[in-house]
Amino acid sequence: MSFTTPYFTLPKFVYLKPSTLEEALSMLKQYKGKAKVKAGGIMLINLMKERQIVPEYVIDLKNIKELKTINITQRGVEIGSMVTAIELQNSKEIKELCPTLAKAASFMGDRTLQHTVTLGGNISVAMPSTDGLTALMSMDSMLEIKSAEERRFIHSSELVIGLGKNSLKEDEIITKIIVPYNGDVKGTYLKFLNASEVAIATVAVTAHLNKKKFALVVGALAPKPYYFNNESLQWNWEEPVSVNIQRASEIVSKTVEPMSDVVASSEYRKHISKVLTARALKEVFGGE
Ligand SMILES: Cc1cc2nc3c(=O)[nH]c(=O)nc-3n(C[C@H](O)[C@H](O)[C@H](O)COP(=O)(O)OP(=O)(O)OC[C@H]3O[C@@H](n4cnc5c(N)ncnc54)[C@H](O)[C@@H]3O)c2cc1C
Repeated sequence: MSFTTPYFTLPKFVYLKPSTLEEALSMLKQYKGKAKVKAGGIMLINLMKERQIVPEYVIDLKNIKELKTINITQRGVEIGSMVTAIELQNSKEIKELCPTLAKAASFMGDRTLQHTVTLGGNISVAMPSTDGLTALMSMDSMLEIKSAEERRFIHSSELVIGLGKNSLKEDEIITKIIVPYNGDVKGTYLKFLNASEVAIATVAVTAHLNKKKFALVVGALAPKPYYFNNESLQWNWEEPVSVNIQRASEIVSKTVEPMSDVVASSEYRKHISKVLTARALKEVFGGE
């Protein structure tokens, strides 16, 4: 998507505005292959203006209340897919229990866009430069996916299958994001931008210090974020933090194979991921 579409008009489509999830899912079933759901609409409307997608039906999820809630349940923190980036940043529960996501949400476009961008829409677009999925993977999040017939759960790392491609079927939507509750949590999200405001690299770290475990995910390098944890980063809790950070950032740098594009070369992205990894780990674990 260019973000500077030459078109000012939308192609013709039928606008549908269900008020329940059941209604939305039954519309998706009825118009399978001809319909697209609209969340915030930021990406969808631009792609339609550019005629990159021309759905006959647009199903607006805006009025479905159950997709807009944040609940603490036995499974963890359950976030409706229509919760916006601003709501994530303002929620007491998200700030306390999902600090990595609260911080990532502050990067989801500018402040005005953040009132509209939804978490479900942000991860469904499957673009390397978006921030939601990298944070969710570091938190080991699950996604609840529904069609009119079925409900299934996938790990957040299974959503993206290619550039702009996700693993959802045409009649399915993401209804909830479930972040498991693992007690005592610390997290951060760092993003490096250049003047074009497109991410060169992002790093999310989520740690559960009481369990001596953490995950580190590097985004914006390739269609799918790179996942690491304390084991793959050979973190030794007996050694000084600085030694661990040095080793971990070397491992990240050796593992990632970033894309080259007009924004940055592969080598530059690799270097930035190494630097961001060290900074993010230092922020979470301290050390010199
Ligand atoms: C100038 C600009 C800069 C931006 N910068 C950033 C940035 O730095 N970081 C960042 O993270 N984002 C950024 N964004 C936003 C990002 O690019 C996406 O546009 C946005 O996250 C999409 O969210 P949405 O809720 O508007 O989804 P929509 O545009 O409504 O939907 C996007 C796609 O996902 C599908 N979809 C939506 N919800 C669901 C669901 N629940 N289940 C299944 N499919 C669904 C839609 O059918 C559509 O195909 C930027 C956007 C703009 C315009």
